[in-house]
Amino acid sequence: ACLTPLPLGPAPKRKTRQASIAWKTNIVTVGGDAPVRVQSMTNTDTADVIATAIQVKELARAGSEIVRITVDTPAAAAAVPHIREQLDKMDVLVPLVGDFHYNGHTLLKDFPECAMALSKYRINPGNVGKGAKRDTQFAQMIEAACQYDKPIRIGVNWGSLDQDLLASIMDSNGALANPKTAQEVMIEALIQSALQSTERAIELGMNPDQILLSCKVSNVQDLVAVYRDLSRRCDNPLHLGLTEAGMGSKGIVSSTAAMAILLQEGIGDTIRVSLTPDPGAPRENEVIVAQEILQTMGLRNFTPMVIACPGCGRTTSTTFQELAANIQSYLRQQMPQWKKTHPGVEAMNVAVMGCIVNGPGESKHANIGISLPGTGETPAAPVFVDGVKVKTLRGDNIAQDFQVIVDDYVNQ
Ligand code: SF4
Repeated sequence: ACLTPLPLGPAPKRKTRQASIAWKTNIVTVGGDAPVRVQSMTNTDTADVIATAIQVKELARAGSEIVRITVDTPAAAAAVPHIREQLDKMDVLVPLVGDFHYNGHTLLKDFPECAMALSKYRINPGNVGKGAKRDTQFAQMIEAACQYDKPIRIGVNWGSLDQDLLASIMDSNGALANPKTAQEVMIEALIQSALQSTERAIELGMNPDQILLSCKVSNVQDLVAVYRDLSRRCDNPLHLGLTEAGMGSKGIVSSTAAMAILLQEGIGDTIRVSLTPDPGAPRENEVIVAQEILQTMGLRNFTPMVIACPGCGRTTSTTFQELAANIQSYLRQQMPQWKKTHPGVEAMNVAVMGCIVNGPGESKHANIGISLPGTGETPAAPVFVDGVKVKTLRGDNIAQDFQVIVDDYVNQ
């Protein structure tokens, strides 16, 4: 039988409108032909101007192209223009998104400088009020977005789903000959909440190009089902994220599992990896994970990647793991500067291998590769550059010597 060849690589990106999230000269396009954007969120008290400005700066430095901050109280709203001012002074022009719930309509009205300093408003239709108030308060937020010419994200979350809408979908579902399952009803309610709110926002004068959507859940299969369906029913740019993804490896694995499926299908225009940080862990980790998802999938390049073997019984010491970790962190630290001076360097690959079993082969495939000696091998580390063996390093300074070779390669 003739088998149809399987496609290589991800499906073409789904066609969407393109939103622009801008601050001064920094215009971050999302959707359309723009690359999938990385974004993140602070966890500082927004009323603390300095702490929030520092964290935004760190997230932006790590590569977050958009940063969201909570705007939940008058003190937080009053702080927003000062945070923006601090960032501008440091020449950090990353667009700030205000995350509003319950009182966003009031804060945007009472604090016009906050409304102007933000580059986008996140509106959760499940948390803008109940009944008649809900419509009025939603309308007030849209009016602010129109008045200040700001894009919005209609961000639905299953933890705060509009209960009236859910009840009405459940009622009509009960009358069907083949009722949907509870999971299908929940998915439908999430999507309808996003789509109905979008329709209402457009009726109120919102530019449809400037509306991004998200429907977040905390389960991988539900997220995939929601976004597959949502992507067929609208052409707005989609913000992907698994909410409450969790701590440590569970948060990373579940976010990656969910987003990778969708991104492979061409769904998703901006991603946020929500990780519960370990105490003391830098907030930027979520930016690094998001970048690594996109880079390992071949969708974008951010930082030269280190390929390293896991090590095994042939490994003579931990030197090669240390070398791999050190060189990855060195490359990451250099990137903010290299990005300006060495365009294209982010696509570089570096291999650090523990012995000659796979070492030379993997090294030849990388731009630069080193193979440290394994058990019973001559104490020497051959280095390959663009597939050709250029040097053999020996002695106690292999790590430093290798870094010099990496620097030379980048500079050339
Ligand atoms: Fe083990 Fe060598 Fe393979 Fe590394 S390259 S995992 S040290 S056999």
